[in-house]
Amino acid sequence: MLVVMKKDATPDQVQRVVQTIQSMGLVAHTIPGAQRVAIGITGNKGSLDPNALECLDGVLEAIRVSKPFKQVSREWRAEDSVVNVAGVPIGGRELVVIAGPCAVESYEQCVTIARAVKAAGATLLRGGAFKPRTSPYSFQGLGLEGLEILARVRQDVGLPIVTEALDPEGVGLVERHADMIQIGARNMQNFSLLKRAGKSKLPVLLKRGMSATIDELLLAAEYVVSEGNPNVVLCERGVRTFADHTRNTLDLSAVPAVKNLSHLPIVADPSHGTGRRDNVVPMALASVAAGADGLIIEVHHKPETALSDGHQAILPDAFASLMEQVRRLAPVMHRDVGGK
Ligand code: PEP
Ligand code: MN
Repeated sequence: MLVVMKKDATPDQVQRVVQTIQSMGLVAHTIPGAQRVAIGITGNKGSLDPNALECLDGVLEAIRVSKPFKQVSREWRAEDSVVNVAGVPIGGRELVVIAGPCAVESYEQCVTIARAVKAAGATLLRGGAFKPRTSPYSFQGLGLEGLEILARVRQDVGLPIVTEALDPEGVGLVERHADMIQIGARNMQNFSLLKRAGKSKLPVLLKRGMSATIDELLLAAEYVVSEGNPNVVLCERGVRTFADHTRNTLDLSAVPAVKNLSHLPIVADPSHGTGRRDNVVPMALASVAAGADGLIIEVHHKPETALSDGHQAILPDAFASLMEQVRRLAPVMHRDVGGK
């Protein structure tokens, strides 16, 4: 349930509502808004009687949240959320472009790519130190050494870092070296990982599972938010379909669907979404046109020798040209592009 206060409700009246909710053994979440304050309620097993709260001073109405995901729903918060990643906003007017290699392979590799993507206008650097690979014989990432390389590159190049944690134990390591915790598609419903990320002070990039519905994605986000971390950015990264001309099918209809249902930002990943270098640029532009809040793009200066996902990495030059096209498209979508 959501208690919507009147525009002119006083702080005392808000406090009275919070106390009433708490006295019912429930949890009150105060949600400040540009127009008015709302107070969300969690912890109830069955449905609540709106009259018990509507009779309090300053209350406009008490409405039932109809979705299984509560705190991430639009009903809970009508305005778009903006997630701050070390000073880079995601979800506002500015489009965010996250770029970098699939995996951190060496300092040289990482710093070369970081400098190139920064020069082209990326504002966050991606790169995996812990890689979730289909085969146990494939490169698994440099682990802690990879995180240390990322931290050095952040210092030397000045881009905040997004990197994946594979398990709850890995979250602490990522927290010590990076600025945003990525939860990968294969881990979207790893509930202990989601709960641990929910206790983190770092924002979370939550990728849609390759066979997850939008409701399942939003419920996964709810796990993180309900543990106390409101800073979640969703990512559409392609789902499994019968189509075999691409690695996955980038489900761009997820973007407007999520925007309708949730206030959380959503970015698109056309690299994993297509798995093909020649598809990345057109689908990146299509993602912006679909209303995505940003892009995550795999870039490698020597994709033929990349230790993972080389076939979908675009060259730094292609990335720079993509950024030019994004800059031209952004105003049509009433967006700005930062960086550079
Ligand atoms: C990645 O970002 O490199 C990655 C492994 O992504 P996903 O979890 O979407 O497959
Ligand atoms: Mn990858």
